[in-house]
Amino acid sequence: MKKEVKNNRRRKKRNGTKILVLLWALVFLVIGFELFFRNEIKFITLDYLSRVSTCEISKVKETKLSETESVSLDEFLRYENVTANEALLLVNEKYKISEDYIPKTVYHDERAVEMNACAKDSFDNLSEALFDETGETLFISSAYRDYEKQKEVKAEEGETAQEAGCSEHQTGLALDVFVKNFAGESFIKSESGQFINENCGDYGFIIRYPIFGEKKTGISFEPWHLRYVGLPHSKIINESKITFEDYIDSFEMGKLYSYENYIITRQNTDTISVPEGFEGAVASEDNTGAVIITFKME
Ligand SMILES: [Zn+2]
Repeated sequence: MKKEVKNNRRRKKRNGTKILVLLWALVFLVIGFELFFRNEIKFITLDYLSRVSTCEISKVKETKLSETESVSLDEFLRYENVTANEALLLVNEKYKISEDYIPKTVYHDERAVEMNACAKDSFDNLSEALFDETGETLFISSAYRDYEKQKEVKAEEGETAQEAGCSEHQTGLALDVFVKNFAGESFIKSESGQFINENCGDYGFIIRYPIFGEKKTGISFEPWHLRYVGLPHSKIINESKITFEDYIDSFEMGKLYSYENYIITRQNTDTISVPEGFEGAVASEDNTGAVIITFKME
């Protein structure tokens, strides 16, 4: 009798373990199914996992040049081969932009939106690359919004929108993009959305609110919100898988950094250290009180 009770207990225990194992197997099966049959989950998971754990910029090395000269920013901007744009303005809750800030914009006839002048050609190139790849047209639902418009958007959308002064749409550098049948959060479910998220860095754009960046940006993943920063910055940011905040932070003031045939430097706006023998340069204030200069070397 005693033996039978013992055996029964053992059998029950074994059955319990079997059920537990089966349950775990089911959980793994469901996760596996999600990963391999839902394309966007696979994409997002791989994107997240491939992130380097540090916030450092990869392939960018601090460099020292023996030949540099010091000039004032005004003087520097008068050089024939130097242009200025707004591509590297950091805009967030900490670094706001003023009510009367007006960016240099152009009207994009085909997309019927106003955007920052420095982003237009790159948008066209990206749009063309997408069309070649998937046959889809890259539409824009929202680009430049002035202070008043942002106030309206905030009033309409509440928590999901930024306060006026904190939105980079006010710079005209942010573009909310979509393709037919895939807008907003579902953009990443489309082949086109994944192509844009993966390759926009080669065309001067970044995913400004990446999946891994919420802690830093305070904004959850927005696969549709592109931000123009220009080359080579977009390439470095996308390759390093860091946020734009991390990127600006990683330049020590006054130091020179090399990446491919570029020299990048973040300096205060009084005196600029200029390396000898550069082919061209772009100066962009970053909204933190500094200016970032990107020299293309010969
Ligand atoms: Zn947006």
